[in-house]
Amino acid sequence: MTLAISERLGAIAAYCPTGARVADIGSDHALLAAYLLESGAASFVVAGEVNEGPFRAACRQLSPMVDKGRASVRKGDGLAVLNPGEVDVVCIAGMGGQLIVSILERGHAILADVQRLILQPNVGEELVRRWLLQNGWQLRSETILKEDQVLYEILVAEPGDPYKPYEEQERSVEELLRLGPILWRQKPTLLIEKWRREQEKSRKILRQVACSQRPETVERAREIKQELNWIDEVIRCLQTGKP
Ligand code: SAM
Repeated sequence: MTLAISERLGAIAAYCPTGARVADIGSDHALLAAYLLESGAASFVVAGEVNEGPFRAACRQLSPMVDKGRASVRKGDGLAVLNPGEVDVVCIAGMGGQLIVSILERGHAILADVQRLILQPNVGEELVRRWLLQNGWQLRSETILKEDQVLYEILVAEPGDPYKPYEEQERSVEELLRLGPILWRQKPTLLIEKWRREQEKSRKILRQVACSQRPETVERAREIKQELNWIDEVIRCLQTGKP
């Protein structure tokens, strides 16, 4: 029987090409890796974990597959657990964008042989997109989904022309790094919800800043108002389908 996994992990799994050799870095209980093997999506998986508890959990989860030579569970930091040419796909999910970028940045040698990255930052998607843009990875897909009231974005990239998804758009690269160049083209309904949430966060900060007596808050309030104007315009475009 195939493992039941969350909608988020299922969406990540759907981006793994059939038969691929996949590394799941920061695998925790290795649910994704186990699902990829059981569903027949992956031919071989490496589950990488830096922390002892999740590493042991991953060992327990994958033990029958390790015995069959279809999985390997490794303890270590980021991509350092991999050998060059060993996997086709690297998944890094459920962490902040900054941590994902630091894992990618320290793994250039391993990434030279990787054909696809599937990244799901919990926050800081802009940082991940910027790293991909600056390191020769072309965004191929972007998805936004909601599970248990939390919004998640999944970014899929392959070696290629990193500027391609940013071309022929009316927004600047800087704006598209925030919005997601593919999400912006597609304008899914959840993107409006994401930017309404961002609007609410900025409004809250503005209310706090407005209560403060410190002189530097005048400039800060001006910046937040500018941000709110930008978000207003973004939401209007999302609602009307304008570029
Ligand atoms: N990837 C799973 C998911 O999306 O459900 C688990 C996400 S869990 C919140 C993040 C996991 O990444 C933790 O188990 C943590 O120990 C691991 N982790 C954090 N930094 C890491 C690193 N530098 N290398 C490998 N694993 C790391």
